[in-house]
Amino acid sequence: MRTRLARVAALGAAAMLALGACASNNGGGGGDVEAGDFPEGSTMAKLAEAGTITIGTKFDQPLFGLVGPDGVPEGFDVEIGKIIASELGIAEGDIKWEETVSSVREDAIANGTVDIIVATYTINDTRKEKVSFAGPYYVAGQSLLTLKENTDIQGVDDIAGKKICTVSGSTPEQNLLENYPDAEVVPFGAYSDCLEPLRNKQVDAISTDNVILAGFAADNDDLEVRGEQFTDEPYGIGLAKDDTDFRNWINDVLEEIYEDGRWVEAWEKTAGTVLPTPEPPAVDRY
Ligand code: GLU
Repeated sequence: MRTRLARVAALGAAAMLALGACASNNGGGGGDVEAGDFPEGSTMAKLAEAGTITIGTKFDQPLFGLVGPDGVPEGFDVEIGKIIASELGIAEGDIKWEETVSSVREDAIANGTVDIIVATYTINDTRKEKVSFAGPYYVAGQSLLTLKENTDIQGVDDIAGKKICTVSGSTPEQNLLENYPDAEVVPFGAYSDCLEPLRNKQVDAISTDNVILAGFAADNDDLEVRGEQFTDEPYGIGLAKDDTDFRNWINDVLEEIYEDGRWVEAWEKTAGTVLPTPEPPAVDRY
């Protein structure tokens, strides 16, 4: 079944008398979406024609992007990536997943290692200098995770003089460095790298988005999320800077899946197994 978005794009293409190549995808999962359904020369047409997409995500974050026993990532970000692929006629099995830890994301997009990134990726102005964002498709907030037995840290007001593990190149790292100078920031490459130092008491807490921390707490009985969130982290889908047609098209996909139930379905089978189901945020067509 051809989706509404592909039909709308096809009308645009027809109006321009664009005769795009009709690469039909045989992988299933994407219906009969074809490259010719999209404006000629667009990123959508190129990806549909190629029949494959490289998506950057996290490999170590339960609920959002975690590589399972079969080597394939699972989580809400992964589901959002699959939906975008399917709207391009690309089946799940034809997606190439690339691990993009926090510090490599802008470069991975800029140098073409990935086509898009769906990886708990906060939209902000600094990053917009290098990449563009569709979304947001979720809004998280920075929080803290400690050992359950730790009674010293109940929230962000208690972190002065404490060692706080976080990840290089993340917004939580930047926020701690700028706004909590009395805390000692201990940066690692990925959030799962913080678990052992926390258990060894080399650090007192881990700080990042509440939903990432909730995933670790759900999987580990000895850990607990502490305090309220103290930032807003709107998650965007990163793509090449100024690829406005692609950004608009992904925003259209998001609005469609907010309406037709696919966003809620993706949430409920992943993050929603631990977290309450939120309202989807309005996309920001900046
Ligand atoms: N959302 C924050 C960020 O984009 C923290 C999570 C992460 O590092 O992926 O930096």
